[in-house]
Amino acid sequence: MRVLVTGGAGFIGSHYARTLLAGGYPGYEDADVTVLDALTYAGNPANLAQVSASPRLTFVTGNICDPRLLAELLPGHDAVVNFAAETHVDRSIAGAAEFVTSNVTGVQVLLDACMRAGIPRIVHVSTDEVYGSIAAGSWSEDAPLSPNSPYAAAKAGGDLMALAYARTHGLDVSITRCCNNYGPYQYPEKVIPLFVTRLADGDPVPLYGDGLNVRGWIHVDDHCRGVQLVLEKGKPGAVYHINGDTELTNRELTAAILDACGATWDIVVPVTDRPGHDRRYCLDDSLLRSMGYAPRIAFPGGLKATIDWYAANRGWWEPLQRPGPPPPLRPAGATR
Ligand code: NAD
Repeated sequence: MRVLVTGGAGFIGSHYARTLLAGGYPGYEDADVTVLDALTYAGNPANLAQVSASPRLTFVTGNICDPRLLAELLPGHDAVVNFAAETHVDRSIAGAAEFVTSNVTGVQVLLDACMRAGIPRIVHVSTDEVYGSIAAGSWSEDAPLSPNSPYAAAKAGGDLMALAYARTHGLDVSITRCCNNYGPYQYPEKVIPLFVTRLADGDPVPLYGDGLNVRGWIHVDDHCRGVQLVLEKGKPGAVYHINGDTELTNRELTAAILDACGATWDIVVPVTDRPGHDRRYCLDDSLLRSMGYAPRIAFPGGLKATIDWYAANRGWWEPLQRPGPPPPLRPAGATR
């Protein structure tokens, strides 16, 4: 069994590759793993340090937008799991071009190369953000796509491309859509590691708007088990939701992090809301649960273990660029 993991030097892809190489997925203990990663600012070979000596790992620096490289690399693989993407919403607001390149064109180039190489099984990893925002209830897999950020729009484009390749070309590709992930090795621009690393340095943490935006949270290990289940049992052209058991407003999340880090609210700086900030996401993952999936890591313990990991691994995150808080929120009606 040979599995190609694109984006395998990023947060979630590296967790998946490390778990595969550690024999964490029954039946795949002997799998050879090729990681293909462009090593953007978010890709970090240190994320694979634990498994870098494994004879079953091949690391290739390269881009999913490169058809010639893919034509050389893909033949002989039994499966491709695509985690490669530009992933930070705020960066997509500052500039969307790279998001379209990697998340739409990159997916199309990868699918095309998979088709030409006769790859028997593909999973394309996506996000709940493609649906937009939902005030109450939850989305099932056939909910209409209504993305609001350039990140989400680009991910939706990649998803549609995957569905098109399944329907038009009969490519055996499934899509997973997951809620917000947390865990070790997450780049410290995302909210949990941003807050935890800033608090570790005694720096203020920024809270967007009124802090009442709601997100589902899942430990990265549960997400990756869901991806593996879809790889093994998913149907071509089908979408599968992967959810955790925790829904929190950003204020509730902030309170949990402050509490776990022994900090108080006076270190929180309210900042002007992100433009187009979706109010609430919520996935119905009963389809995957009917296939045997259930998250295993409860949020309080998972958050504590994650905070402990950042405390013990300052050498991993300190060299990485961490955004400071944007300017504080102006009182309503203020002109300066
Ligand atoms: P990440 O930013 O930590 O990692 C992305 C990786 O992809 C990096 O290693 C980067 O170098 C690589 N990459 C980017 N563009 C590439 C390209 N063109 N070719 C090859 N490699 C490229 O992201 P993540 O949080 O690990 O997310 C992985 C996937 O999971 C993404 O597709 C994302 O949309 C999806 N997802 C993430 C979350 C979350 O909460 N982080 C939730 C749901 C879905």
